[in-house]
Amino acid sequence: MNMDDVLIIGAGITGIGAALRMEELKIPYTIIEKENRAGGLCRTESKGGFLFDYTGHLLHFKNAEFKKRILRILDGNIEHRERNAWIFSNTVFTRYPFQMNLYGLPENVIIECLLHYCDSIYSYDKPLPETYEDWIIQNFGKGIGKHFFIPYTKKMLKLHPRLLLPETGGRFVPKANLEGMLQGALFDQKKYQMGYNANFFYPAYGGIETIINGLTSKMKVNTDEKVIEIDLKKRIAKTSKNRDLKFRYLISTQPLPELVNSITSKPTEIGNCSKRLNWISIFDVNFGLSKKNCNKHWIYFPEKEFSFYRIGFPHNFSKNVTPGGCGSVYIETSYKKNSKINKDACIGKCVDDMVSLKLIDNDSNIKEIQTIDIPYAYVIYEKDTLSDVKKIKEYLRKNDVFTAGRFGGWEYFSMEDSFIDGQKTGDKVRDLLNV
Ligand SMILES: Cc1cc2nc3c(=O)[nH]c(=O)nc-3n(C[C@H](O)[C@H](O)[C@H](O)COP(=O)(O)OP(=O)(O)OC[C@H]3O[C@@H](n4cnc5c(N)ncnc54)[C@H](O)[C@@H]3O)c2cc1C
Repeated sequence: MNMDDVLIIGAGITGIGAALRMEELKIPYTIIEKENRAGGLCRTESKGGFLFDYTGHLLHFKNAEFKKRILRILDGNIEHRERNAWIFSNTVFTRYPFQMNLYGLPENVIIECLLHYCDSIYSYDKPLPETYEDWIIQNFGKGIGKHFFIPYTKKMLKLHPRLLLPETGGRFVPKANLEGMLQGALFDQKKYQMGYNANFFYPAYGGIETIINGLTSKMKVNTDEKVIEIDLKKRIAKTSKNRDLKFRYLISTQPLPELVNSITSKPTEIGNCSKRLNWISIFDVNFGLSKKNCNKHWIYFPEKEFSFYRIGFPHNFSKNVTPGGCGSVYIETSYKKNSKINKDACIGKCVDDMVSLKLIDNDSNIKEIQTIDIPYAYVIYEKDTLSDVKKIKEYLRKNDVFTAGRFGGWEYFSMEDSFIDGQKTGDKVRDLLNV
């Protein structure tokens, strides 16, 4: 590797996006991946004929170029689905999103939600929200906050929304309107779909990793090699294979706190900013089942009674992810950064809750169990997060280091966002190299 080269850390979909851009621009690069294959969160594990992604990984296209690229790779190997997502609350199932589908909930809950929504929309005093709780109340009212957003956020992100920034909401939360909300309170809106994930695509065969295989078919990824130390003065990255890789520009897609940790001499302030970053991890328990147990795509669980916050049914994304006639479930339980989860207890509780929800009769329905630990799952936006991330990135940029992707860039990114971020980061490097 020469001093003119670009080093990419991580062959998740962001690193792959950056590498493809380097290839398109004919810029020499090296891509290093610590796992035994590319894909990161977009990998698919296989056990006993069942395919398990890292929980649900569904394709929602908003960028025409990315869509074209993925459809070309899949070449007809694709399913298209209208979302069939639900919430289990107050012992009943209501359709997702909660705010537009109150139908079926107890009358007092519906009335509380509607009244407070009217309070929120007819309130003239709307200062800019300072917290995610303010944002929830301004957009949906106190009732919907109390019955869905607040308990769900506490469960999933392990923090009360009053401690989070309004950015926690963003484009992934479908907005509400009074007409739709009234309709959704009076009728079961079978055909009413809204939000970024109202429908989705998914590979017919092979799980989500199929897109990674297509994207990297001609790429040389250096696998089983981890970047462990970075000397920014000498522009050298040391790897677990005892290689010293010299670089001109570095594109890092590894989690930001880990990148900062690996830099040998850095300002104390940058180390402190990095230590403050917060995120949650997920323990994903996948079950291969002897029969198809549910026709829903996924279900949210805001209530404390259940330890998990969401479960999904891959056999409804594509019938080919299970052996014939079988079903499968993924169950997502979150835990705080750098903490531990009792994995056996978690699996046991998942089984008990599947029985109580009548998703299985008993554990004889279970043919396979595959657990996947996801140490970095969701970045958390707290008081200092935006300024800390900005300071870290400014420091890195001064040292010719670019960060990209969901954890490299510290953004709530989808697969598509991540890929495009990788490509755009490649363009920034090109601009500096004057290619
Ligand atoms: C639970 C969950 C569900 C999701 N569902 C969806 C969905 O339905 N649809 C959607 O579009 N998006 C979804 N996403 C988001 C999507 O997974 C991410 O946006 C995307 O995969 C991020 O890609 P990345 O390359 O930035 O990160 P990663 O996939 O984490 O890739 C980073 C890579 O860097 C490697 N690495 C780390 N450190 C080093 C090192 N020191 N040296 C070498 N290699 C290193 C890692 O092994 C990894 O391969 C979901 C995410 C989660 C957590």
